[in-house]
Amino acid sequence: MIAVIKQGVPETQIDNLVNWLETQSVSVHRSQGVYNTVLGLVGDTTHVDIELLQNLEIVETVTRISEPFKSANRKFHPKDTVVDVSGVKVGGGHFAMIAGPCSVESREQIIEIAKQVKQSGATLLRGGAFKPRTSPYDFQGLAADGLELLKEAKKETGMPIVTEIMNANHLPLFEDVDLIQVGARNMQNFELLKELGRIRKPILLKRGLANTMKEWLMSAEYIMAGGNEQIILCERGIRTYETYTRNTLDLSAVPMLHELTHLPVMVDPSHASGINWMVKPMAMAAAAAGADGLMIEVHNDPKHALCDGAQSLTPEQFDDVAKRVKHIREAI
Ligand code: PEP
Ligand code: MN
Repeated sequence: MIAVIKQGVPETQIDNLVNWLETQSVSVHRSQGVYNTVLGLVGDTTHVDIELLQNLEIVETVTRISEPFKSANRKFHPKDTVVDVSGVKVGGGHFAMIAGPCSVESREQIIEIAKQVKQSGATLLRGGAFKPRTSPYDFQGLAADGLELLKEAKKETGMPIVTEIMNANHLPLFEDVDLIQVGARNMQNFELLKELGRIRKPILLKRGLANTMKEWLMSAEYIMAGGNEQIILCERGIRTYETYTRNTLDLSAVPMLHELTHLPVMVDPSHASGINWMVKPMAMAAAAAGADGLMIEVHNDPKHALCDGAQSLTPEQFDDVAKRVKHIREAI
């Protein structure tokens, strides 16, 4: 971190600042320019409050040289992380296909969809049991019963299961869940993230509705700081001024995150677009951009789905998307 001191600041004030900084476990290298004094802060600067420093009257500017995320940073871990979800590898050249309904609705529904998406090449089965709905009057998911049905579908098909957690108190119910999803609305639920850092189970961390990539990586850092390093990031579209699509798919997140972090990056074209027919081109584009996997909503009867029917593919449509994505991956 580099702090430039304003012109004409008396030496004693600069000394006071240097002394204060040195109490925060950084060493300070001072250099005198023609007009300004420049302070180079060396060491672990994670405890230095950059905003506080920036707002001091004697400070002109402060620049961070290294990123505030350490565990997630590719600079310190150049090799791709490969996350193992009960035998299904994600990242480092391993492509995962998560498919299934937005919500688990019944035994017949989840088992039928599970069998069909597996046949089309899906490697992980999704299905929401605890649903984060905008309206409290909408279907909230089958909760613990939904998790039981997911487990039955896993037993029936052998596919590892992915489902969203909204409350750390529910963790005991998630014992047999293979990949725990943190949804967009909880990306910055720091107490939940800390609890997930304490367990040793892969986490699918979706991007918040209006969060920057840096904020997203800092959320991954929360989990990793607790010792759980098995994280998959999932871009699911962000809030913009556009209204024709449910969200705006930020595909630039894929190459940018591959540059910044060693963690796998997946894309959810279903929530990103909100429109059934747009899932296919967006899924193909995500694969072309180098995503480590896709998460796609599939329903056996989208018209009567209890949640997100408009963006859900039929199993036949999913089969076509899976084939196209395979071709794209072969081409690149
Ligand atoms: C979901 O995947 O079921 C979901 C609610 O997605 P998001 O958190 O991205 O809105
Ligand atoms: Mn959904």
